[in-house]
Amino acid sequence: MTDLSPLPKPALGEPYLLTPGPLTTSEAVKQAMLRDWGSWDGDFRAMTAELRRRLCALLGSDAEAYDCVPLQGSGSYVVEAMLGSFVPWDGKVLVLANGAYGQRAADTLRVMGKAHTMLDKGDYAPPRGPEITRLLEADPEITHVFAVHCETSSGILNPIQEIADATYAAGRKLLIDSMSAFGAVPLDPREIQFEAVVSSANKCIEGVPGFGFVLARKTALEAAEGNSLSLSLDLHRQWAAMNKTGQWRFTPPTHVVAAFIEALRAHEAEGGVAARGARYSENRDVLVSGMRDLGFVTLLSDDWLSPIITTFFCPADPNFDFTKFYDAMKARGFILYPGKLTRAESFRIGHIGQVDAHVMRAVVHAVAEVLQEMGVQCAAPASESLAEQQAETV
Ligand SMILES: *Cc1c(COP(=O)(O)O)cnc(C)c1O
Repeated sequence: MTDLSPLPKPALGEPYLLTPGPLTTSEAVKQAMLRDWGSWDGDFRAMTAELRRRLCALLGSDAEAYDCVPLQGSGSYVVEAMLGSFVPWDGKVLVLANGAYGQRAADTLRVMGKAHTMLDKGDYAPPRGPEITRLLEADPEITHVFAVHCETSSGILNPIQEIADATYAAGRKLLIDSMSAFGAVPLDPREIQFEAVVSSANKCIEGVPGFGFVLARKTALEAAEGNSLSLSLDLHRQWAAMNKTGQWRFTPPTHVVAAFIEALRAHEAEGGVAARGARYSENRDVLVSGMRDLGFVTLLSDDWLSPIITTFFCPADPNFDFTKFYDAMKARGFILYPGKLTRAESFRIGHIGQVDAHVMRAVVHAVAEVLQEMGVQCAAPASESLAEQQAETV
C-alpha cells in the first residue's frame, strides 16, 4: 500500500462526507467561490471555455469528435436533457436498470411520453451482453440503449464495455449515465462506443453541486435539433448558443463553475482519471478489508465492487440500530449513507471526494468503537440477507 501523507481535515468541525456527492471538497475548491463573476464577462467566458476543453480532454485522444455542453441543475436535469435531446420522437429506448437511477431514467421517459422498455435486473444484478443482444434482436423499434455506469444505489460497476459492444453490434446507440464514475473510471471512446455520457460537478471531479454536463458526439449534437420539447433542457440549443456566444443561455452558477475549474486543475495535478481511480480504489480496498475483519459482509462480490461506494449489510445482532450507528459515526466526524435496497437492510459508505486511505482506516476504527458502544458482538448479517444474495446470480 502506498504511504500517503494525510489529507488535511475538512474545515473545523466539518465531518467527512462519505456520500456520493455532495462530497468533501478541498480548501482550494471552497476558496474559489469567494469571488463574484459577471456571467457575460470575458473572464467568465474564458472559464466556460476552459471547463469544456478540460472535460473533453478527459475522454482521451479521440476527444475531437466530442463536445462538452454544461447545463444548470443537478445530475438528474442533465439525464433528462440527454434523453430529451438525443432520443427522437419516433425513437425508443431500452433502459438497463439495476437500481434507483435506472428506474429514474425510465420515469423520465414516461413523463416525457417517449417510447421505452426496461430490462430490470432488480437491486444489483448487472445487465449482461447476451440478454441485451436478445432484446435488441426481438425489438427493431429500439433506437437507443440507456445504461448507468456505476449504479450508485448499490455501488455496482456495470459492465459498460459489454453493454456498448452489444448495443453497437445491433446497430443501436448508447446513452450513458456516468454521473458517479466519470473522472475516476476510464471511458475512452476508442474502446467503448457511445453517443453521449452525462455527469455532474459534485461527484468524482470533486466540485460542488450546481450543474451537470454532457459529452456527446458532435454529430449527435447536430442531429439533436428539434428533438427536445423543453427549452431549458435542450442540449442542442445550449450547445449552439454556447458555441456562438461563449456564454450559457441562462444564468450560470458562476461560483460553482469557478470551484469546478479549481477541481479540474487538481484532478489533472493528481494524475488524471488513472490516479483518481487508483486513490478511490485504494480507499475501497482499505475500507472493505477493514469492515470484513469486523465481520461485515458486502452486498456485492469483489468482481462488481466499484471504487465509488460500497454497500454493507446491516448486522443481524439485535443491538444494532442504524439510526444510533449513524449518529455515533457522525459524532466521530463521518457522515454515512443509508441503504437503498428494496429488501435487505443495508447501508453505504462512499469513498470518493477528499478522502484517502488514512481517512478510511479512521472510519473502520470508528465503526469498531461504535459497535462496541452499542453492544454489537458480531457484525454478520441475517442469514436471509445472505441467502437472497446467493439467489441473485451475481
Ligand atoms: C448522483 C447521481 C445522479 C443524479 O442525481 P442528482 O441528485 O439529480 O444529482 C444520477 N445518476 C447517478 C448514477 C448518480 O450517482
